[in-house]
Amino acid sequence: MLHQIQPERQGPLGSAMADAVSRCVHCGFCLAACPTYRELGQEMDSPRGRIVLMKQVLEGQLPAAAAQPHVDRCLGCLACEPACPSGVPYRDLISPYRATIGAAEHTRDSGANLRRWLASTFLPRPAAFRIAARAGLLARRFFPWTPPPLRPLLRLLPESLPAAVALPTFTPAQGPRRARVALLAGCAQQVLDPDINVATLAVLARNGVEVVIPRAQGCCGGLAWHTGDLPAAQAAARRNLAAFPDDIDAIVTNAAGCGSALHEYGLILRGTDEAEQAEAFQKRVVDVSVLLDRLGLVPPNRRFARRGAYQDACHLANAQGVRQPPRRLLEAIPGLELVEIEGSDQCCGSAGTYNLDQPDIAAALGRRKAEAVVASGADWVASGNIGCLTQLQHHLKALGAAIPARHTLQILRDAYVE
Ligand code: SF4
Ligand code: SF4
Repeated sequence: MLHQIQPERQGPLGSAMADAVSRCVHCGFCLAACPTYRELGQEMDSPRGRIVLMKQVLEGQLPAAAAQPHVDRCLGCLACEPACPSGVPYRDLISPYRATIGAAEHTRDSGANLRRWLASTFLPRPAAFRIAARAGLLARRFFPWTPPPLRPLLRLLPESLPAAVALPTFTPAQGPRRARVALLAGCAQQVLDPDINVATLAVLARNGVEVVIPRAQGCCGGLAWHTGDLPAAQAAARRNLAAFPDDIDAIVTNAAGCGSALHEYGLILRGTDEAEQAEAFQKRVVDVSVLLDRLGLVPPNRRFARRGAYQDACHLANAQGVRQPPRRLLEAIPGLELVEIEGSDQCCGSAGTYNLDQPDIAAALGRRKAEAVVASGADWVASGNIGCLTQLQHHLKALGAAIPARHTLQILRDAYVE
């Protein structure tokens, strides 16, 4: 039980944290599911250990600085939630904690603070991120010695950046209209792989879905929310509440991290004037794979005599409970053999900006994931999140494996011929 939550830590987010903490019975069933516990073998880097630490900070029994390294090492992958028999809503604890206590009382080193600042400044703004990424590519090419704090950032950049794509605000359905949706275009995705949105529009149109892309939309706010910047997360949520129209059947995302953040708008705006609107908004959000699965996929008509694998993005599988729809869509491709990756439910180490914050753990998880993909014998691997795809591409290349990592919708798009 949380007995004495400090007055300055009460309020809507404080009550969410208190509810989550009070449900933990310390049974330890979550430990084996937690990638950082498996990696580091320390109780304080397990879900149970972190819950105890955060509880003690909330009660004023422990300085926040003592808990911070362990809280920072949490991926936010939520693998602990489905493993918990008591139904502890860990997500209601970790992000509100970071957005209140973690943000106010942090003591990170200057390198970590610089990387966080760069990520929060550039990633949510595609135009600025594109310029920064190009500068990073030049720096990597012409200045092989880069300051250590910047190396995790530069390491993750691709060989080159694809050209920017201007997305249409309206894409009509092909044939009879089965649904009308609005698409969240994503931020980093528009820079690192704009073809994901192109493929998404093509598959949706082919499946009778009319798509609008509201121009006034912005970043989902997930990066700010998961790194402890509540005001920025709330500003992003308010902007999107105003931007998305009412005359649609669903708000569609094709990036698991963004979809997960949109599903948390009710929590992000809890206790504010927009709380009710945010709750209604998040109920309209759906991953593109779920939408297509519910509608019933128009059968792909191109044969793929290849073996493919699907990697669960944590923010799709654990945060949104979406595991089977993407697999069902891929299995609809004629001739395709879909294989499972061992440990598919374990995080690849991308986890938003985790590979910038905790490069060593992220690299160990990424390497293990890439080895599992190679061992599966797959010719390609699909996933539903740009962060996971970037991480997979980086570590598969480091292993010397010529296995492309692509978005599920890119695979599907290629499975249709006109
Ligand atoms: S499984 Fe659930 S109840 Fe048990 S220690 Fe983990 S979070 Fe607490
Ligand atoms: S969110 Fe992931 S890393 Fe964090 S405690 Fe849960 S399982 Fe472990």
